[in-house]
Amino acid sequence: MQTLPHFISGERRQGQSARFADVFNPALGQVVAQVPLANSDEVKAAVASAQRAFPLWAETSPLKRARVLFKFKELLEQRQQQLAQLISREHGKLVSDALGEVTRGLEVVEFACGIPQLLKGDFTEQVGSGIDSHSMRQPLGVVAGITPFNFPAMVPMWMFPIALACGNCFILKPSERDPSAALFMAELLQEAGLPNGVFSVIHGDKQAVDALLQHPDVAAISFVGSTPIARYIYETGAHYGKRVQALGGAKNHLVVMPDADLDAAVEALIGAAYGSAGERCMAISVAVAVGEVADSLVGKLAQRSRHLQIGMGEDAGAEMGPLVTRQHLDKVCGYIAQGVQEGASLVVDGRYYRHPDYEQGFFLGGSLFDHVTAEMTIYQEEIFGPVLAVVRVPDFEAAVQLINAHPFANGTSIFTRSGAAAREFSHRIQVGMVGINVPIPVPMAFHSFGGWKASLFGDHHMHGPEGVRFYTRMKTVTSRWPDKLAAEFVMPTMK
Ligand code: NAD
Repeated sequence: MQTLPHFISGERRQGQSARFADVFNPALGQVVAQVPLANSDEVKAAVASAQRAFPLWAETSPLKRARVLFKFKELLEQRQQQLAQLISREHGKLVSDALGEVTRGLEVVEFACGIPQLLKGDFTEQVGSGIDSHSMRQPLGVVAGITPFNFPAMVPMWMFPIALACGNCFILKPSERDPSAALFMAELLQEAGLPNGVFSVIHGDKQAVDALLQHPDVAAISFVGSTPIARYIYETGAHYGKRVQALGGAKNHLVVMPDADLDAAVEALIGAAYGSAGERCMAISVAVAVGEVADSLVGKLAQRSRHLQIGMGEDAGAEMGPLVTRQHLDKVCGYIAQGVQEGASLVVDGRYYRHPDYEQGFFLGGSLFDHVTAEMTIYQEEIFGPVLAVVRVPDFEAAVQLINAHPFANGTSIFTRSGAAAREFSHRIQVGMVGINVPIPVPMAFHSFGGWKASLFGDHHMHGPEGVRFYTRMKTVTSRWPDKLAAEFVMPTMK
C-alpha cells in the first residue's frame, strides 16, 4: 500500500500525525493509497518554509517568474497523459475527460505566462503641477488554496499559476480523496525551476484547513468546494483578517425554449448532466422545459439516458465513469429515493446499474426525473451525481423567475433560436456564468470564473484579470521633486 507524502521545502515529507485517510480507485472499489492528514505543526512548517522563500521570489522579475511557468507548461504538456491517468485512477472520471481538465488548467498557465504585461501599472503625469502619480500591484505573501475532489488538477491550476506569477508563495491543500495530482504538479514545478518553498502541498482535512485559516502569516485563501464549507472558509478567513475567495456548490439550469433545436438541446443536456457522472460544479442538473417542448424533450432524454455507456477511465466508448466514493454513491441514491417519495416521476432509475466487470466499483446509472417542482429537496439541494431533473414551466418569464429564485447561481444556459430571448435571458438572469446554446459556459482562462449568491463568497472570481487582482494589492505613489518645500497645514489639494 502506497503512503503519500506532503511536499514541503521542495521535498517529499512523510506525515508526522498518526491520522491517515484511504484513497480509493472508484472503478475497482479498492483502496489504492493512504494520504496523511496534517496536524497544525506540519501546516506551520509549510507556512514557515513559504515565508522564508517569499522575499526572493517576490523580488524575482515578472519575466523570470513567467519563464518558470513557461517551462512548467512545457513539462505538463509532455506528461499530461500521465497526469490524466493519475486523476482517473483516484477520481474515476474518464481519461479523456481528465485530459480535458488538464487542458483547461494549462490555459490558465498560458494566461499567467503573460504576467509581465498583466502587472504593468498605471501612470499619470502631472496630477498636480510638477507632481506625477503611479499605481502598482505587489504580491500578498504566502497564500493558500483549498480544493475539491472533482477537478484535482484544473481547480488548483485556476489558482497557483497566477498566484506564483504575481510573486506569492502558494500552499495547496488538495482534496484528500484524490491527492496525487497535486504532488505530480509540485514535482513538475520544481523541475521547471521553481525555488524550494515557493509551492508546497499539505494534505489533510478540517484540522489542516483550520491551521491555514488561523495562521497569521497566510495572507489569502482561495477555496473551491461545497457551499457550507465555502461559507465557513469565508467567515473564518475574514475573522482572521485574510483576503478570501470561496466558491461553493451549484444547481445549474438549462432552459429549453419551444423554438430550440431539440436534438441539439438533448445532446447538450445529456453531456452536461451525466458527463463526469454529474460531479462537476458546472454540470446541468435541472432542465427547464418551456411550454409544449416538455413531452418530446423528456421522451428523447429518457431514450438517451437509458443507454449511457458506463465504464472505467480508459474503456473505449465509455461516456461516464463511477462516483468518487461509496459514501457519495449512497448519498446520491438517497436523493433519488427522496425524489420518488416527494412525488417526482422517476422516468429512468440508475440505481440498479451494475458494471459487469467491476462489481465492487462505485458505479451508478444515469437517472432522470420529470415533474420536479421547486418545493422538492431534489430541486433545492445539490446532488452532485448523474441525476437530471426536468421542471416544466409555462413560459420564458416563469423560467427566469424560477432560476432567479434559486439560492445557487453558478452557471445557467438557454437553448433557443431567438436572439431576443437569448439577449433578454443573459441580461436578466441572476447567475454568474451564462451560456447561449452552450450547455457548460465555463469562461476561458483570460476571462474569470465565478458564480453569484450561494455559489461564491467574496469579491473576486477566479483566474483571468480577477485572479491577478486577488493575488496582488495595490500601491499608489505620488511623487514630486521640488527645489524647496514649505509646510502645508491644510489638506493638500492638487494645484
Ligand atoms: P468539500 O466542500 O467537501 O471539500 C472541499 C475542500 O474542503 C477539500 O479540500 C476538503 O478537504 C475541505 N473540507 C471538507 N470539509 C471541511 C471542513 N469541515 N472544514 C474545513 N475544510 C473542509 O467539496 P468536495 O466534495 O471535495 O467537492 C464537491 C463540491 O465542490 C460541490 O459542492 C461542487 O459544486 C463544488 N465545486 C464548486 C466549484 C465552483 O467553481 N463553484 C468547482 C468545483 C467544485
